[in-house]
Amino acid sequence: MLFDVRSILQTPGKALEFRFSLDLSDVELYGRYPVSRPVDVEGGVRNTAGILELELTAHSTLDAVCDRCGKSFLQDKEIEYQCVLAEEVQSDENDDIVLLENGHVDVGDLARTAWILGMDTKTLCSEDCKGLCPTCGADLNLGPCKCRKPVDPRMAVLAKLLEKSGEEEQ
Ligand SMILES: [Zn+2]
Ligand SMILES: [Zn+2]
Repeated sequence: MLFDVRSILQTPGKALEFRFSLDLSDVELYGRYPVSRPVDVEGGVRNTAGILELELTAHSTLDAVCDRCGKSFLQDKEIEYQCVLAEEVQSDENDDIVLLENGHVDVGDLARTAWILGMDTKTLCSEDCKGLCPTCGADLNLGPCKCRKPVDPRMAVLAKLLEKSGEEEQ
């Protein structure tokens, strides 16, 4: 979506706002397409003392799957993005500068990139999700499973010693 900022290019103190929604249902993450609902984008461009500052917020509810227990759940997700718009590159060192093309900036493209970069690499249904039992596959969030806990080797040695001392007493 091209956004025209020519009307504020030369006018410090002026601002323009935008609001649109983005379809990111084609974005794949680890073999899934979690952005099934539209991403609502809101933001604006302000001319601050001759410098064009863009900021935007994008929000959606994702179809998430917990990496630990495999449960599907809805996850609210919001990202924020800021950059400076310029008609030409002033210095190579600042990569927060986005170049205008004939006074336009592609806000859809910026929001899409910011959203994808802001995606979590790890998804948990809750911070303290207990996950699944590696032996029987039971969801440990629902309570302890029936299988025996793997024996700690140090405990095994202790158990042997206790067994021995028990034998000697007999
Ligand atoms: Zn979980
Ligand atoms: Zn188990």
